[in-house]
Amino acid sequence: MKIELGNIYFKSKAEAIRHTKKVVHDYERYIPITTESDRSTFELFDSLINMHPESTERIGIGVDYFFVKPNAITPRYGEINFRRIDGSTDNFSFNSCLKARSMKPLYEAMRVAVFQQILDRMPLFENHKTCLLCDNDYHLDNPKQIDHVIKFRDLVAEFLEQFISTDIPTNFADEKDTNRYKFKKCDEGFENEWIGFHGRKAQLRCICRKCNIKLR
Ligand SMILES: [Zn+2]
Repeated sequence: MKIELGNIYFKSKAEAIRHTKKVVHDYERYIPITTESDRSTFELFDSLINMHPESTERIGIGVDYFFVKPNAITPRYGEINFRRIDGSTDNFSFNSCLKARSMKPLYEAMRVAVFQQILDRMPLFENHKTCLLCDNDYHLDNPKQIDHVIKFRDLVAEFLEQFISTDIPTNFADEKDTNRYKFKKCDEGFENEWIGFHGRKAQLRCICRKCNIKLR
Protein backbone atom coordinates (compact mmCIF):
# COMPACT_ATOMS: atom_id res chain seq x y z
CA MET A 1 0.00 0.00 0.00
CA LYS A 2 1.46 3.37 -1.03
CA ILE A 3 1.57 6.07 1.57
CA GLU A 4 2.26 9.80 1.53
CA LEU A 5 3.75 11.59 4.53
CA GLY A 6 4.47 15.28 4.24
CA ASN A 7 5.64 15.45 0.66
CA ILE A 8 7.36 12.09 0.62
CA TYR A 9 5.91 9.02 -1.05
CA PHE A 10 6.64 5.56 0.31
CA LYS A 11 6.04 2.20 -1.35
CA SER A 12 4.80 0.63 1.85
CA LYS A 13 4.11 1.28 5.52
CA ALA A 14 7.27 -0.63 6.37
CA GLU A 15 9.33 1.79 4.25
CA ALA A 16 7.63 4.78 5.90
CA ILE A 17 8.41 3.32 9.33
CA ARG A 18 12.08 2.71 8.43
CA HIS A 19 12.42 6.28 7.16
CA THR A 20 10.73 7.83 10.20
CA LYS A 21 12.76 5.68 12.57
CA LYS A 22 15.98 6.92 10.96
CA VAL A 23 14.89 10.58 11.08
CA VAL A 24 14.01 10.26 14.78
CA HIS A 25 17.21 8.37 15.56
CA ASP A 26 19.46 10.92 13.86
CA TYR A 27 17.68 14.13 14.89
CA GLU A 28 19.42 16.37 17.37
CA ARG A 29 17.61 16.12 20.72
CA TYR A 30 15.42 18.92 22.10
CA ILE A 31 15.68 21.21 19.02
CA PRO A 32 12.31 22.82 18.14
CA ILE A 33 11.15 21.65 14.71
CA THR A 34 8.94 24.26 13.06
CA THR A 35 7.86 25.03 9.50
CA GLU A 36 10.60 27.70 9.46
CA SER A 37 13.44 25.66 10.95
CA ASP A 38 12.80 22.39 9.09
CA ARG A 39 9.66 22.27 7.00
CA SER A 40 10.07 18.71 5.67
CA THR A 41 10.51 17.13 9.10
CA PHE A 42 7.70 19.26 10.52
CA GLU A 43 5.40 18.07 7.73
CA LEU A 44 6.47 14.47 8.21
CA PHE A 45 5.67 14.54 11.95
CA ASP A 46 2.51 16.55 11.35
CA SER A 47 1.17 13.97 8.86
CA LEU A 48 2.01 11.22 11.33
CA ILE A 49 0.24 12.73 14.31
CA ASN A 50 -2.83 13.29 12.14
CA MET A 51 -2.92 9.53 11.49
CA HIS A 52 -2.78 8.69 15.19
CA PRO A 53 -5.83 6.75 16.44
CA GLU A 54 -6.32 9.42 19.12
CA SER A 55 -5.18 12.36 16.99
CA THR A 56 -7.88 14.80 18.14
CA GLU A 57 -7.03 14.31 21.82
CA ARG A 58 -3.28 14.33 21.22
CA ILE A 59 -3.22 17.45 19.04
CA GLY A 60 -5.66 19.28 21.33
CA ILE A 61 -5.50 23.02 20.85
CA GLY A 62 -2.78 22.69 18.18
CA VAL A 63 0.90 21.86 17.76
CA ASP A 64 3.36 24.72 18.17
CA TYR A 65 6.47 22.68 17.40
CA PHE A 66 7.85 19.14 17.50
CA PHE A 67 11.08 17.97 19.08
CA VAL A 68 12.89 14.69 19.57
CA LYS A 69 13.95 13.64 23.03
CA PRO A 70 15.46 10.47 24.50
CA ASN A 71 12.90 7.75 25.07
CA ALA A 72 11.99 7.44 28.75
CA ILE A 73 12.35 3.67 28.73
CA THR A 74 15.29 3.17 26.36
CA PRO A 75 17.21 6.49 26.27
CA ARG A 76 19.39 5.60 23.28
CA TYR A 77 16.22 5.67 21.17
CA GLY A 78 14.52 8.94 20.38
CA GLU A 79 10.83 9.66 20.62
CA ILE A 80 8.74 12.33 18.95
CA ASN A 81 7.46 14.95 21.37
CA PHE A 82 5.58 18.13 20.72
CA ARG A 83 4.62 21.34 22.42
CA ARG A 84 1.10 22.65 22.02
CA ILE A 85 0.17 26.29 21.59
CA ASP A 86 -0.90 26.41 25.26
CA GLY A 87 2.58 25.30 26.40
CA SER A 88 1.68 21.71 27.34
CA THR A 89 3.86 18.91 25.99
CA ASP A 90 3.15 15.30 25.02
CA ASN A 91 4.61 12.50 22.94
CA PHE A 92 3.27 10.08 20.37
CA SER A 93 4.43 6.85 18.84
CA PHE A 94 4.85 6.90 15.07
CA ASN A 95 4.20 3.17 15.04
CA SER A 96 0.75 3.74 16.47
CA CYS A 97 0.11 6.10 13.57
CA LEU A 98 1.34 3.79 10.87
CA LYS A 99 0.47 0.37 12.16
CA ALA A 100 -2.69 0.78 14.09
CA ARG A 101 -5.94 0.18 12.38
CA SER A 102 -7.37 -0.46 15.78
CA MET A 103 -4.99 -0.88 18.67
CA LYS A 104 -7.69 -2.02 21.03
CA PRO A 105 -7.51 -5.81 20.46
CA LEU A 106 -3.70 -5.71 20.50
CA TYR A 107 -3.66 -3.64 23.71
CA GLU A 108 -6.08 -5.99 25.37
CA ALA A 109 -4.16 -9.10 24.33
CA MET A 110 -0.97 -7.47 25.65
CA ARG A 111 -2.66 -6.75 28.98
CA VAL A 112 -3.98 -10.30 29.24
CA ALA A 113 -0.49 -11.65 28.43
CA VAL A 114 1.14 -9.94 31.43
CA PHE A 115 -1.75 -10.39 33.88
CA GLN A 116 -0.16 -13.36 35.62
CA GLN A 117 3.21 -11.61 35.81
CA ILE A 118 1.58 -8.70 37.63
CA LEU A 119 -0.29 -11.03 39.99
CA ASP A 120 2.99 -12.78 40.76
CA ARG A 121 4.44 -9.48 41.99
CA MET A 122 1.50 -8.70 44.27
CA PRO A 123 3.13 -10.26 47.39
CA LEU A 124 5.82 -7.53 47.17
CA PHE A 125 3.15 -5.02 48.10
CA GLU A 126 1.50 -7.02 50.84
CA ASN A 127 2.91 -4.85 53.63
CA HIS A 128 2.02 -1.54 52.02
CA LYS A 129 -0.69 -0.07 54.21
CA THR A 130 -1.02 3.43 52.76
CA CYS A 131 -1.22 4.87 49.27
CA LEU A 132 2.14 5.92 47.86
CA LEU A 133 0.66 9.10 46.39
CA CYS A 134 -1.93 10.44 48.87
CA ASP A 135 -0.75 8.58 51.97
CA ASN A 136 -4.31 7.53 52.89
CA ASP A 137 -4.95 4.07 54.34
CA TYR A 138 -6.46 1.50 52.03
CA HIS A 139 -9.97 0.41 52.86
CA LEU A 140 -12.82 -1.42 51.20
CA ASP A 141 -14.19 1.69 49.48
CA ASN A 142 -10.79 2.75 48.29
CA PRO A 143 -8.71 -0.39 47.85
CA LYS A 144 -5.10 -0.96 46.90
CA GLN A 145 -4.45 -1.18 43.16
CA ILE A 146 -1.39 -1.95 41.11
CA ASP A 147 -0.23 0.86 38.84
CA HIS A 148 2.45 1.10 36.14
CA VAL A 149 4.95 3.86 37.00
CA ILE A 150 5.75 4.18 33.27
CA LYS A 151 2.34 4.23 31.61
CA PHE A 152 1.27 0.93 30.08
CA ARG A 153 0.61 2.68 26.75
CA ASP A 154 4.21 3.98 26.72
CA LEU A 155 5.61 0.51 27.39
CA VAL A 156 3.51 -0.90 24.56
CA ALA A 157 4.60 1.89 22.22
CA GLU A 158 8.27 1.37 23.05
CA PHE A 159 7.99 -2.39 22.56
CA LEU A 160 6.30 -1.98 19.18
CA GLU A 161 8.91 0.56 18.13
CA GLN A 162 11.59 -2.07 18.61
CA PHE A 163 9.64 -4.70 16.70
CA ILE A 164 9.94 -3.24 13.22
CA SER A 165 10.94 -6.50 11.55
CA THR A 166 8.43 -8.74 13.27
CA ASP A 167 4.85 -8.99 12.21
CA ILE A 168 2.60 -7.49 14.81
CA PRO A 169 -0.35 -9.81 15.43
CA THR A 170 -3.59 -8.62 13.88
CA ASN A 171 -5.84 -11.58 14.65
CA PHE A 172 -6.66 -12.70 18.14
CA ALA A 173 -8.48 -15.41 20.00
CA ASP A 174 -11.24 -14.69 22.47
CA GLU A 175 -10.72 -15.86 26.00
CA LYS A 176 -13.71 -18.09 26.67
CA ASP A 177 -14.64 -16.94 30.18
CA THR A 178 -13.85 -13.25 29.99
CA ASN A 179 -14.43 -12.44 26.32
CA ARG A 180 -11.11 -10.63 26.21
CA TYR A 181 -8.71 -10.83 23.30
CA LYS A 182 -5.65 -12.96 23.70
CA PHE A 183 -2.78 -14.02 21.46
CA LYS A 184 -3.12 -17.03 19.20
CA LYS A 185 -0.68 -19.91 19.40
CA CYS A 186 1.01 -18.79 16.15
CA ASP A 187 1.94 -15.47 17.82
CA GLU A 188 3.64 -17.16 20.77
CA GLY A 189 7.00 -15.66 19.77
CA PHE A 190 5.65 -12.12 19.89
CA GLU A 191 3.80 -12.81 23.14
CA ASN A 192 6.86 -14.25 24.88
CA GLU A 193 9.05 -11.36 23.75
CA TRP A 194 6.46 -8.96 25.12
CA ILE A 195 6.19 -10.77 28.46
CA GLY A 196 9.99 -10.68 28.75
CA PHE A 197 10.11 -6.98 27.85
CA HIS A 198 7.35 -6.15 30.32
CA GLY A 199 9.11 -8.17 33.01
CA ARG A 200 12.33 -6.20 32.51
CA LYS A 201 10.89 -2.73 31.99
CA ALA A 202 7.64 -2.46 33.93
CA GLN A 203 7.90 -0.81 37.32
CA LEU A 204 4.87 -1.46 39.44
CA ARG A 205 3.68 0.39 42.50
CA CYS A 206 0.70 0.30 44.82
CA ILE A 207 -1.68 3.22 44.94
CA CYS A 208 -5.30 3.66 46.01
CA ARG A 209 -8.15 3.39 43.54
CA LYS A 210 -8.98 7.12 43.74
CA CYS A 211 -5.43 8.10 42.80
CA ASN A 212 -5.38 5.45 40.08
CA ILE A 213 -8.53 6.88 38.49
CA LYS A 214 -7.07 10.41 38.64
CA LEU A 215 -4.04 9.25 36.64
CA ARG A 216 -6.09 7.92 33.73
ZN1 LIG B 1 -4.09 7.55 46.98
